[in-house]
Amino acid sequence: MKKVTVPFFISHQGCPHTCVFCDQRVISGADGHLPTAEQISDKIALWRSTAGESPLEVAFFGGTFTALPEDTQSKLLAPLRPFLENGTLDSIRISTRPDYIDDHRVAWLSERGVRTIELGVQSMDDAVLAASGRGHSGADSLNAIRSIKKWGLQAGAQLMPGLPGDTPEISLESLEQVIAAGADFLRIYPTVVLKGTELAQRYAAGNFTPLSLDRGISLCKQLLHCAMKADVPVIRIGLQADTGLDEENVLAGCWHPALGQLVRSQLYDDLVRRFVADGECVTVHCHPVRVSDVTGVARGNLLSQTQRGVHVQITPDATLHKDELRIQKEDSCTTYSIISDLHYSIHEV
Ligand code: SF4
Repeated sequence: MKKVTVPFFISHQGCPHTCVFCDQRVISGADGHLPTAEQISDKIALWRSTAGESPLEVAFFGGTFTALPEDTQSKLLAPLRPFLENGTLDSIRISTRPDYIDDHRVAWLSERGVRTIELGVQSMDDAVLAASGRGHSGADSLNAIRSIKKWGLQAGAQLMPGLPGDTPEISLESLEQVIAAGADFLRIYPTVVLKGTELAQRYAAGNFTPLSLDRGISLCKQLLHCAMKADVPVIRIGLQADTGLDEENVLAGCWHPALGQLVRSQLYDDLVRRFVADGECVTVHCHPVRVSDVTGVARGNLLSQTQRGVHVQITPDATLHKDELRIQKEDSCTTYSIISDLHYSIHEV
């Protein structure tokens, strides 16, 4: 059964850095105050009452959890213990920087019920990390992932294609390295230029060129495809649209409120494009949860196929895998897989 996440945003709390792209207050939409024990307990009780049978997971997002003083971390985790012990709560997730994770910290968190640690890896390339003011290295990220796995916890890695000095090749290499190190899941947040950040100043001065939306979609598509081939879930692509991000705050870069769907839709569009010739009329069968991806955002895939004379009728079929399409033509019916029937070159981005 899918977990329900009870989120607590602790933006900039504990963070000892100012990365060139970061304005946590805007990204998370929170004011950075730490919740009290009472607020934590009340929120869990409220969410428990509306979550039905689903397991609950508390997540502390934003900030750098393990850079907080240990007694502050204890104050946030202690109210959760009774809920863990009586089964109200299933698990705890925190997010932090790779250079604030080591064996001691992972063991300490594990004893207090933390089961998942998300790391802001961003890139595995030291030059990109330095140009972005991250203050840690790719080796720090590898060591952090290994520590988390050693203690039997889940490791998540957040990547940011399009940082200063980044290239599509470096982004792909970074993704491959975190997967090889054992990351259990990924988030991909293409770089956006937020008002009030150092990146905004560089952009205004002409010293930074962000990824365009089209190029970002093309790059994220290849990163997603690589993760799918490795069977590592990408649980989010693009920053949340409902947390203070709008035209006023986002100055430039690859941002769209439905970026994840735009990226996934592109994979299905590519598969149809590869196996359906111009002017053909086909029925495309897909898993029911994929109908909107095959259709495309605002019917974009269907419209683009129409422009080359292809008429597509979509039919849901629960017997298909979510990554498959069955393409039915007048004289044939063949099942194709996004994973094995699409091939990309990173140089095309
Ligand atoms: S470490 Fe995280 S919270 Fe701190 S400035 Fe960088 S991105 Fe923002």
